[in-house]
Amino acid sequence: MLTERAAELDAADALAHVRDRFLLPEGVVYLDGNSLGALPAAVPAAVEDAVRRQWGVDLIRSWNGNGWWDAPIRVGDALGRLLGAAPGQVVVGDSTSVQLFNTLVAAARLRPGRRLLLTDPDHFPTDQYIADSVGRLLGLEVRRVPARDAAAALAAYGADVAVAAYAPVDYRTGELYDMAALTAAAHGAGALAHWDLCHAAGALPVGLDAIGADFAVGCGYKYLSGGPGAPAFAYVAQRHQADFDHPVTGWHGHAEPFAMSGAYAPAPGVARARIGTPPLLSLLALEAALTAYDGVEMADVRAKGTSLTGFFQECADALLDGLGFTAVTPRDPARRGSQVSLRHPEAYPLVAALTARGVIGDMRAPDLLRFGFNALYVTHADVLHAVRELHDIATTGAHRAPEFQQRPTVT
Ligand SMILES: *Cc1c(COP(=O)(O)O)cnc(C)c1O
Repeated sequence: MLTERAAELDAADALAHVRDRFLLPEGVVYLDGNSLGALPAAVPAAVEDAVRRQWGVDLIRSWNGNGWWDAPIRVGDALGRLLGAAPGQVVVGDSTSVQLFNTLVAAARLRPGRRLLLTDPDHFPTDQYIADSVGRLLGLEVRRVPARDAAAALAAYGADVAVAAYAPVDYRTGELYDMAALTAAAHGAGALAHWDLCHAAGALPVGLDAIGADFAVGCGYKYLSGGPGAPAFAYVAQRHQADFDHPVTGWHGHAEPFAMSGAYAPAPGVARARIGTPPLLSLLALEAALTAYDGVEMADVRAKGTSLTGFFQECADALLDGLGFTAVTPRDPARRGSQVSLRHPEAYPLVAALTARGVIGDMRAPDLLRFGFNALYVTHADVLHAVRELHDIATTGAHRAPEFQQRPTVT
């Protein structure tokens, strides 16, 4: 029954041809693209060219001749298409953590006199640490309000709020929040909306311009498959660019970087969000990775993503019942990202045993098994295979073997 259903769903898959744009290892079902995306087929040749020809032969001439100088904004514009951002609002470089710091400070500086920075107690740790640091730096109180209560909090004491900093997708549970509603609630209070799109970029449409988002950041190595350490992006809505007062005023954001002036004068437009020399090899790898989205609409990515997550839930209902698992991800497709998490007291050994069988997911302490579904390369057959293996492990107790008990430092 489930086998036929998987085959039917895969036969109707509008993105089936896109899977060939990835180099997937034989015999592996990869459900961890929400942590490190798989390798896009266009990347190795692009990196080879960047190293051997651009660096090796063209050398310093590459800044102009091979478009190195323009890369942060060129790649930002390519990414903007996937984020619903018109050109000239996205810049790529540095890590998510750095981009978070820069845009949070800049956002707070646009709302002087307001004393609160609202963020989620369930936000990814780096987002909370940086919010706290920005709070100390600018004299703001960081108030933690869960995403589901944020709109009500903004209505209640919003006049004190400078910035509301949230993620549309909970990285643990995969729950998806209403970005448009929260953005509107922030604006209703006169505050700014700051979004961390790490678990949304490349997985679902976020329509930054359409919802009127103010600032957004996100990493390049999760669903976007830009590779380990891929640079992150920052979105600065056009209407804020003229007043965008960046805390890390590096020379690449200067109006005339090669005038070598001793005084900072910000570049016009989103270029002022640049900092310093970007990690070009990684940036060019990300640029090549994004070609996997050529001709692909985010609406189709979203449709397939909800189909994959829904099918996973269906398979889990049928095959994992009575084995100690608890579903934690919403059933309503409108309320979940491209991820499904299950709770189980033996989460780590179960994930380790699955990995040993070539089904790669991950876990988050203490008891969450996490499965991310990149619609560009995961199939419904993969989903069924993964749940069948999990069923087999849990019923036979294969995960109780000693080699699956010791958690490594990085899980
Ligand atoms: C993955 C992730 C990060 C990672 O930050 P880095 O600086 O790239 O290490 C930050 N925030 C969220 C919400 C994430 O999911």
